[in-house]
Amino acid sequence: MPKITFLGAAGTVTGSKYLIEAGGKRLLVDCGLFQGPKELTQRNWAPCPVDAATIDWVLLTHAHIDHTGYLPKLVSSGFRGPIYANAATRELCGVLLPDSAHLQEEDAKYAAKKDYSSHNPPLPLYTVDQAQTALKQFKDIPSNDPFTISPQFSVRPHDAGHILGATWLELTVTENGKQTLIVFSGDLGRYDQPLLRDPESPTRADYLLCESTYGDRDHPAGSILDELADVINRTNKRGGAIVVPAFAVDRTQLLMYYLRQLVDQQKIPSLPIYVDSPMAINVSDMYAKHRADHDFKPQQSADPLGMHDVHLTRTAEESKKINSVVTPCIIVSASGMASGGRVLHHLARRLPDSRCSVLLVGYQAEGTGGSALQNEAKYLRLFGEEVPVKAEIVEVGQLSAHAGRSELLRWLSGFQAPPRQTFLVHGEPEALDSFHGAITTKFHWPVTVPEHLQLFDLNV
Ligand SMILES: [Zn+2]
Repeated sequence: MPKITFLGAAGTVTGSKYLIEAGGKRLLVDCGLFQGPKELTQRNWAPCPVDAATIDWVLLTHAHIDHTGYLPKLVSSGFRGPIYANAATRELCGVLLPDSAHLQEEDAKYAAKKDYSSHNPPLPLYTVDQAQTALKQFKDIPSNDPFTISPQFSVRPHDAGHILGATWLELTVTENGKQTLIVFSGDLGRYDQPLLRDPESPTRADYLLCESTYGDRDHPAGSILDELADVINRTNKRGGAIVVPAFAVDRTQLLMYYLRQLVDQQKIPSLPIYVDSPMAINVSDMYAKHRADHDFKPQQSADPLGMHDVHLTRTAEESKKINSVVTPCIIVSASGMASGGRVLHHLARRLPDSRCSVLLVGYQAEGTGGSALQNEAKYLRLFGEEVPVKAEIVEVGQLSAHAGRSELLRWLSGFQAPPRQTFLVHGEPEALDSFHGAITTKFHWPVTVPEHLQLFDLNV
């Protein structure tokens, strides 16, 4: 009978990797990097728990690094098969994977210089060249139509409303003439968002893997525009800068969309905005290109970055110059969890200044800089030094790319019959536990929270 092994995102939010075996073939759904605390990131360095050369195909739900960032390592470990994804996801990976490699090369160099690495000499997990090699194995599949991978596996993707190109998957597994339907939620987005279509709801599954990122809480209600305007005006009055660690994909575009509205409605002054991420700039071009994959209305600007006073910084030199800006400004830079990237330099410069603000606009995984700021850390360790946190830290929950608890339950309410088994994945332990309770109370479905590397027979 078919089998599933949880190679990642079991009991945690990162490292999504699910191995499905049927008819002697192996399909890996998502291939994410572990991020956050060291005990998780060490798993990226350990030998792959399954011989990479024995995996036949990889299938992706969306482009985020915690779902794709292990691909270059999988390929360098011997995986030679096709990586199936839709065109938008493939193009986003074309930006995100080399960037992930670049960050790792930079971190390794920096660690060598400052002598604080646990590897001696410090090494990147993979190089930009290895990321480029992995990209050559990508093959496009339709965004919404059925696609046959092999006699054992066929897939039908549906809109997940999470980021450009994001899908949830209906995977039909055929073995000995028997069919098993597995639904992978991937990451689910929010309803009624300006840029992306609503998540479609599934109606049936034998087995369901459901993400639980916000399984324990809802996003705050209220006007996102008012909340943004308040903090921007407050910081402007103090003469400080506003630093926004933002995921380059989607969050930056949505934030720019709201900032433009606020400027146009004269609710905030037209401050200079620095979009300091070459990746965010490329991704914005993709939103303009892949019109069919989102619901940005034609009467709106085709370019979410089409602002009045926006400085797009591509080079590291331009990025460093932002440090010398002493008048109020808005700096948007990746990574969104302050776990790496250029935003770390901006935080090192602005956190000790009580006039400044830092806006947290997305999910902050445990062990990241963003999570430490969220938990009111007095100091943040950046580049081997303790940086005092004097700036105002503001969480803007409505900007999340993830469905809140009631939105997850709304997505699940489309099922016409209970899945035989629901596996809760992609959540921290408290979120998993709380969401487990919510599903049991509301739907009375059998729910399992799998452990790392746990294997299950899929028996129908
Ligand atoms: Zn995601």
